[in-house]
Amino acid sequence: MMEVAFGQTKIFRRPVIGLLHALVFWGFCVILLGSIEMVIDGISGYEKVFKSLGWFYDVIMASGDIFAFIILLSIVVFLFRRIFLRINRFEGIEMKKVSHVDANISLILIGILMVSLLGMNTFYIRSTGDSQSIIHGVYPVSVVLAEWFSTTADINHTLFVTNWWTHILVIFIFANYLPYSKHFHVFMSVPNVFLSRLEPLGKVTVMESITKEVKIMLNPETAYSDTGDEDTVERFGILDVEDITWKNYLDSLSCTECGRCTSVCPAHLTGKKLSPRKVIMDVRARMKEKGPGLVKNDREYFDNKSLIRDYISEEELWACTLCNACAQECPININHPSLILDMRRYLVMEESAAPGELNAIFSNIENNGAPWQFSQEDRMLWAEEIQMNRPDKKD
Ligand code: SF4
Ligand code: SF4
Repeated sequence: MMEVAFGQTKIFRRPVIGLLHALVFWGFCVILLGSIEMVIDGISGYEKVFKSLGWFYDVIMASGDIFAFIILLSIVVFLFRRIFLRINRFEGIEMKKVSHVDANISLILIGILMVSLLGMNTFYIRSTGDSQSIIHGVYPVSVVLAEWFSTTADINHTLFVTNWWTHILVIFIFANYLPYSKHFHVFMSVPNVFLSRLEPLGKVTVMESITKEVKIMLNPETAYSDTGDEDTVERFGILDVEDITWKNYLDSLSCTECGRCTSVCPAHLTGKKLSPRKVIMDVRARMKEKGPGLVKNDREYFDNKSLIRDYISEEELWACTLCNACAQECPININHPSLILDMRRYLVMEESAAPGELNAIFSNIENNGAPWQFSQEDRMLWAEEIQMNRPDKKD
């Protein structure tokens, strides 16, 4: 979490835009302290309640002031890219118009937050100067901005109060808008990274129920001696959202829709239908659709639809090479291949619906103990001719 979430290490794989994103994230962390102070000030009627922190307060206020300016510049760059440049990874069948509008609304709200923060600091400096009181905190950017204005004391005070209210109201509007927005990752990404899988990316999870069945086949005694875990498996793999883990759902809520996963997916890059971002977004959309019914009626709830086929096609699932490039690239450690693999497990184990080539391999393994169509006895036939033609044999 310290490395990937707070250090933003994965984001830096795209250095320029990564640096801007990291600065916005770090800036938010610093500015959050100032926002908490504003709320306490607002409720208590006190002014600058944290000022007793002394030099530390100066550092926090100075960093917040500088970061507000940096974030504002970054937001202008982000908006420019989104509106005027065609960035491939922002496109795709899963990226509906509403996704783009949502991203722009969030960026504009953040922009207003930064403008009002700088405005608040600027007119705090000016109105405190008017009343010849002590300025609490250090504001390296706003002190320069304050020089640009020659407004009267009344206007300074009015503009300070206006910016203060604008800032606090936009914080609350933004906080209420976030759960419906892709920017929900502001809240979710750090816990999601904290809870991410720490095993090597390529490691395939074992299905306990299958392991148990194999053990029973190899040693029927265990069928009677194993009295521990009596859970019956309702379904192998994932058909719909009731089969996913809570972590799969958390992943889908945390997805930033950045498209880094899709931009490195070899299946996607070679024109296949698969987009790992779409898989994650589909889980979220399906859970939104079916979740309330599941909560009300338990697992039995059925609405004549399923995640596989109604949202994610078999073609998409079988296009995945399980290369793990998507999981490697995802800045918040979402693991797409494990989800895709579990959906394929459902198709194979519950419906025998694997592609023809795979079904042939499965029956070869079942019948011959190898993926090829020859029986074990015929394994060395290919070598017989060589054996016959050996010079010593000819003699
Ligand atoms: S694991 Fe599958 S979805 Fe992920 S990048 Fe590789 S092919 Fe694409
Ligand atoms: S899954 Fe990860 S990489 Fe892909 S869009 Fe979501 S956050 Fe970005």
